[in-house]
Amino acid sequence: MSDRVGDILERISSFMESDVYPLEEPTKRKAFFSLLPALEEKRQKVRDMGLWTPQVPEEWGGLGLSLAEFGRISEVLGRSPYGLFIFNCNAPDAGNIEVLMTQGSQDQQERFLRPLLAGQVRSCFSMTEPEHAGSNPVVMSTTAVRDGDEYVINGHKWFTTGADGAAFAIVMAVTNPDADSPYARASQIIVPTDAPGFRRIRNISVMGEEGEGWMSHAEIVYEDCRVPRSNLLGEEGAGFAIAQERLATGRIHHCMRWIGICERAFEMMCERAATRQIGAGVPLASKQTIHNWIAEGRADIDAARLMVLDTARKIDRDGPDAVRLEISLIKFFVARVLDTVLDRSLQAHGALGMSDDTLLSFWVRHERGSRIYDGPDEVHKSRVARMILRDYGVRLSR
Ligand SMILES: Cc1cc2nc3c(=O)[nH]c(=O)nc-3n(C[C@H](O)[C@H](O)[C@H](O)COP(=O)(O)OP(=O)(O)OC[C@H]3O[C@@H](n4cnc5c(N)ncnc54)[C@H](O)[C@@H]3O)c2cc1C
Repeated sequence: MSDRVGDILERISSFMESDVYPLEEPTKRKAFFSLLPALEEKRQKVRDMGLWTPQVPEEWGGLGLSLAEFGRISEVLGRSPYGLFIFNCNAPDAGNIEVLMTQGSQDQQERFLRPLLAGQVRSCFSMTEPEHAGSNPVVMSTTAVRDGDEYVINGHKWFTTGADGAAFAIVMAVTNPDADSPYARASQIIVPTDAPGFRRIRNISVMGEEGEGWMSHAEIVYEDCRVPRSNLLGEEGAGFAIAQERLATGRIHHCMRWIGICERAFEMMCERAATRQIGAGVPLASKQTIHNWIAEGRADIDAARLMVLDTARKIDRDGPDAVRLEISLIKFFVARVLDTVLDRSLQAHGALGMSDDTLLSFWVRHERGSRIYDGPDEVHKSRVARMILRDYGVRLSR
């Protein structure tokens, strides 16, 4: 790590301690809109510190970091549910920012990217449909049909994260149903949420919580929803190629954020084990089960971090196409580590872990999805195995 990145990390860590962790009151955890004024105040502080939107190049107002360098920052920010939002690098905005930077026309960049970079608006990404397997999204019913200078979009989506209060969605829709390759049939189209025919039906209740704002997962209907054809991102039929592009960096961001959560949950487990007396003069920390959890947790988290940073460095050096195997490896491996570390920390806290007095139950509810979104574990494991088996002459289709 360079001195510059070391210095940035130190500043961010002390800001997390002084300004971000104090926001983590149990009663406010699910809320977004009532917490927004406090979050906005912190966001202004981050701008004033010159650390705003750290993941983007300097010409777009960011810190000009490599992916591996930003990964370290994502870990520190991931230690709190609010960290990435306060620094304007939370999903799905970070992915949309990246796509708009690389694929957006000048007009799209002025209308959609600039306000997103400035933190004036939020956005969402709308691909998954309840009627079809999201793990194989080439099968999709949503269509966008040209009508003069407009696209007319019809379809049904769900789990569109952050749609509640977002200014626009990037929507995957079939524009070229007759293309030979199923990967060349869909396009990405920018749809303002006030466009005629855009209807957010509900924020889906997920694991007992109906999140709001950026923590929401919405069900949306597009009913003869009209947008100008100039809202097409990139070429027609390039939807999957563009989605692939955002996934590689997105996985590094997510995995490093998960490692931040792991570190904090691990620290909480050690602290609890050291201080909880389970008998006269018998700390929980004296039990071998706890020793195993501490040793295995430390090894798992360190291994996960090294795998992710190694993948990030390869992307920095050779581009995302060079790491197809690694990108799948880290996705299921780090999600498994997160699942295990969180579960053990909760277990070590007993009833306190189940309560909302600590962050553990919040994370268990919110992060269980890590094993499902961006491709379920099983899909990634199959992909890894298929790639490896090719070297042994075995060629398997999906
Ligand atoms: C918290 C959360 C946030 C999300 N945010 C967004 C978002 O912002 N935008 C968006 O468009 N979508 C989002 N999604 C949707 C997500 O991308 C899909 O849930 C995911 O792609 C899986 O699709 P599915 O739910 O339809 O499951 P299915 O495709 O029906 O799969 C169900 C299960 O079947 C198994 N399975 C599937 N395929 C295989 C296979 N090839 N081999 C072995 N087993 C298999 C897996 O166990 C899988 O979990 C989000 C989901 C969650 C949980």
